[in-house]
Amino acid sequence: MDAIQPFAPDALAAALAQAADEINASAVFAAGTERGNEVMARLAARTGLPFAANCIAATPGDPVTVTRLRWGGSLLEEAHLHSPRALITVAPHTVDADTGPPPVEVDVTPAAEADLLVHVSGHVTPSNGGVSLAEAKVIVSGGRGVGSKDGFAIIEELAALLGAAVGCSRAVTSAGWRPHSDQVGQTGTKVAPDVYIACGISGATQHMAGLKGAKRILAINSDPQAPLMLNADYTVTGDLKEIVPAVSAEIRKGR
Ligand SMILES: Cc1cc2nc3c(=O)[nH]c(=O)nc-3n(C[C@H](O)[C@H](O)[C@H](O)COP(=O)(O)OP(=O)(O)OC[C@H]3O[C@@H](n4cnc5c(N)ncnc54)[C@H](O)[C@@H]3O)c2cc1C
Repeated sequence: MDAIQPFAPDALAAALAQAADEINASAVFAAGTERGNEVMARLAARTGLPFAANCIAATPGDPVTVTRLRWGGSLLEEAHLHSPRALITVAPHTVDADTGPPPVEVDVTPAAEADLLVHVSGHVTPSNGGVSLAEAKVIVSGGRGVGSKDGFAIIEELAALLGAAVGCSRAVTSAGWRPHSDQVGQTGTKVAPDVYIACGISGATQHMAGLKGAKRILAINSDPQAPLMLNADYTVTGDLKEIVPAVSAEIRKGR
């Protein structure tokens, strides 16, 4: 993905098409990230080859059989790709990147001008101070229970003390309290932190779909029966507006 800078999905798709022809590949794999899926969709469009996104397993053969994650991970689908070359993206956090085959080096021709038309023209610094949600080791996330845009000050404060990224639920992005880039879940970012601290989030299936990679979940909620409380490793029942500042104060005291 870094071979063509700035990121230009058509140019990468063209390079992949050439490389696959060169080595007569029976399959082309990419990470099931936004960029990986975009490049592979463009490769499928330009070659007419079948593309299966978000796979967790693939068995070679004719047809190639793949297992795909559907509906935010709540459904596994078995699909067959009838083609001499299958295009497959791998669902995030499901396969160890080190287990892949050794790298292959192929010379490809420089990108055509038309393939560079769509490219990244700039970057906007995320509101969470630059810690990437997808790669954060600790995430402090707020839901509707935070109450308002300004209410996120206590979430940001705790996140800053822990060196964490700030996340949120869709109720929060829909209310305009946080940008979509902070949203965790099926239609947001799938995260895989060591610790996910969920404050005032009920734990709807669509939110939980983004948490499958989280190693430990700490939930703070006034409702002990909220689904996230029932699925968490650690829970604190009570008003987050009292609990979150109290946790921050304790961390400060200990420093
Ligand atoms: C197609 C589709 C895709 C979706 N994708 C996503 C997605 O990607 N991510 C996502 O998050 N949602 C997604 N949703 C929305 C999802 O169904 C829920 O509506 C949403 O997650 C609810 O957000 P919430 O938990 O913040 O709010 P609520 O469900 O309203 O929960 C608020 C929680 O805060 C608690 N609370 C209230 N006040 C306090 C307080 N003072 N202290 C402590 N706790 C308090 C309440 O007990 C409650 O549990 C999607 C929905 C659809 C239909």
